[in-house]
Amino acid sequence: MNDNNKNGRRAFIMNTAKGTAALTIGLAGMDQFLVSCNSSRKVATAGSFSTGFTQQPLPYSYTSLENVIDAQTMEIHYAKHAAAYTKNLNDAALAEGVDTKKSVEDVLSRISKYSAKMRNNAGGHYNHEMFWKCMRPKTNDNRPSGALLEAIEREFSSFANFKSQFSDAAKNRFGSGWAWLYTNATKKLVIGSSPNQDNPLMDVSDIKGFPILGLDVWEHAYYLKYQNKRADYVDNWWNVVNWNYVQTRFQAV
Ligand code: MN
Repeated sequence: MNDNNKNGRRAFIMNTAKGTAALTIGLAGMDQFLVSCNSSRKVATAGSFSTGFTQQPLPYSYTSLENVIDAQTMEIHYAKHAAAYTKNLNDAALAEGVDTKKSVEDVLSRISKYSAKMRNNAGGHYNHEMFWKCMRPKTNDNRPSGALLEAIEREFSSFANFKSQFSDAAKNRFGSGWAWLYTNATKKLVIGSSPNQDNPLMDVSDIKGFPILGLDVWEHAYYLKYQNKRADYVDNWWNVVNWNYVQTRFQAV
């Protein structure tokens, strides 16, 4: 379906009573109809970002983030934890009849229709695929620029204030989960956090939108180097954020 057809369908739905629409498009079309009614659908497929069901190569070596994240943590995290999410996602997709030629974002946007296994592993796969790209080797005075910096300063008054608020979200997330910078339905930048492997693309999530930047605060992400000191991991992590990548996600919205 091309964009014109999509927009046409959306406009059609907006101008038609739900009951009439359901009768017109028939039961086979109900799923698409309900998805089109979901306002998070638009942000979930922002720009060209579309995540497949296979684990992509790490965009740097295990040793590249040393002094912030040690090589052993990177290897176990990527090759064991994240790889397991991808495998379990594909097992669940096969069992539950998900078309893996479609995007993971598509599944996340209606995750309430699937099992807990799908929720945990589709989230786990997506979150880690994004997380690796959100990092790069350590750079001095690491900060965003251009339109993203302007938006951050507009919403959070300063980059320092933004970092402080995001860090608090990461440090205060109880147990396992993620801190996020995301854009909400009105394209405003918002900071939040989610439990386990949930993320803002999920229809069941308390926070909804398109994730721009994510930080993994599961103990497996930092415990070998930082032990119980999650705050030190969070503070140090800012040195390896790939702001170029974050900027491309921001511009896609
Ligand atoms: Mn992780």
